[in-house]
Amino acid sequence: MKVIVVSGGVISGLGKGITTSSLGRLLKARNIGVTIVKIDPYLNVDAGTMNPYQHGEVFVLDDGTEADLDLGNYERFLGQSLHGAHNLTTGKIYRAVIERERRGEYLGNTVQIIPHVTGEIKRTIREVALASGAEVVLVEVGGTVGDIESMPFLEALRELSYELGEGHMAFVHTTLVPFVGPVGEAKTKPTQHSVRELRAIGIRPNMIMARGSAPLAPDIKAKISLFCDVPPEAVISIPDQPVIYEVPLVLEAQGVGALLVKLLGLPEREPDYTAWKEFLSTYRSQRGHLEVGIVGKYTDLHDAYLSHIEALHHVQGRLGCTIDLQWYDAEDLPRNPVALGRLRRSDALVVPGGFGSRGVEGKMLAIELARSQKIPYLGVCYGFQMAAVEFARHELGIVGANTTEVDPHSPDPVVGLLEQQKAVSDLGGTMRLGAQKVELTPGSKVAGIYGREEIWERHRHRYEINPAYLERFAAHGLRVTGRAPDGRVEVLELADHPFFLGVQYHPEFLSRPEAPHPLYLALVRAALARQEVAPPVAATPARA
Ligand code: GLN
Repeated sequence: MKVIVVSGGVISGLGKGITTSSLGRLLKARNIGVTIVKIDPYLNVDAGTMNPYQHGEVFVLDDGTEADLDLGNYERFLGQSLHGAHNLTTGKIYRAVIERERRGEYLGNTVQIIPHVTGEIKRTIREVALASGAEVVLVEVGGTVGDIESMPFLEALRELSYELGEGHMAFVHTTLVPFVGPVGEAKTKPTQHSVRELRAIGIRPNMIMARGSAPLAPDIKAKISLFCDVPPEAVISIPDQPVIYEVPLVLEAQGVGALLVKLLGLPEREPDYTAWKEFLSTYRSQRGHLEVGIVGKYTDLHDAYLSHIEALHHVQGRLGCTIDLQWYDAEDLPRNPVALGRLRRSDALVVPGGFGSRGVEGKMLAIELARSQKIPYLGVCYGFQMAAVEFARHELGIVGANTTEVDPHSPDPVVGLLEQQKAVSDLGGTMRLGAQKVELTPGSKVAGIYGREEIWERHRHRYEINPAYLERFAAHGLRVTGRAPDGRVEVLELADHPFFLGVQYHPEFLSRPEAPHPLYLALVRAALARQEVAPPVAATPARA
């Protein structure tokens, strides 16, 4: 078992997740089996109950785990699906320890952080490593060195490195090198301090990843090397990149792959980046330009919609057209004519998932515009449910149509609570979650896009389309073209529209740089086709 630990210093938000994912990619490019574990030192059991404004999107895995968004980065960079055990939290560890204590498994001993909590952490990491069969396990420790919360995890990893012995574990420390003053002088002091912090807990980093807005000059690298006791070739500069998928190549160019292989005694092979480089060169090729509008209520924090952003990056890397994302705050939209005007000129619109009543009217306004102006539209989860409500209201004239999530007493509950949800009271981990089978209607648009009639997609919802309205929907052109094996509605598509598709599931979680998701590809292709015919912006104002 070989382990690479990635810790972080100075500040959070340094892109440790991208660094970790990129290290994984360097090994994968050498055909070395690799997997990644994320440690989140918070007390929540999982990310499911966390506000996207605090932690960004909740990323859903095949097994239904509601995970930290870094799991999405790992899956995208490695091109591998992970499961719940790959996201360790303090909540999960403590829960396991307390359950063991209740079962009497500690045989009368006093249960303590060391050795019981650290023991549970090491056991879990070993188990994941074994189950994955990977040669190398990357462990990213969330938070910043020095935080009280991350102490037990770093201690456990220190113990693990002692247990595994020389040459089995490497420590990579990510820090910030700020550029300050009128001439933008690079400052190494924060890095020195955070390395000192790490050494105080008994961990000596083998490599330092210095994040910053610009590349580090050789003398700055030398200074960090001297003060932090790391060879100069192991001080790596990661300046900000226009797109995250550049990072593996930035690391490779500084010899990180070869260094890791040497540190861990792995076989050195010529890395293969053929597909990765092809993706990047297409991504930069600027074959056309289009604007995709995203309408949601967390638009101030783009991380809340990270997987949608990445899915569209993947399309750019396949089609080569520059995709410019425009963000629309759903709550503000109905009273903002300027935003509305711009939205009308979008080449495509996405209404992503969401919860609660705030912003739903704005979402429906955007959907109505997409429907009436024939702007290609992809509605995901709440964006799919809202499309049904909008259609019922404005096309079928059912004025009181709603989801019971917004109006529990709606006379026309077009969207209602799933039967199995009616007795559920806990919020954590209780939605309809994870990969579920969807059967697509032969001959439908959506089946044509996938090129298949059976798909598996990831879900996260409590509400569903009410079948009582489906006949009326179909009579007006909105047809069900995908269902779960138990009959529940998964896909709605509109006839007589270049692309108007709503899906109950979350396609964004399955898109990968080397395998863009077919729905996002089809959305952008429809937008490009519409640009070619270039209809002028319609003169009829949208309902506002
Ligand atoms: N709030 C809706 C539901 O629970 C949609 C969920 C989502 O968009 N992820 O069904």
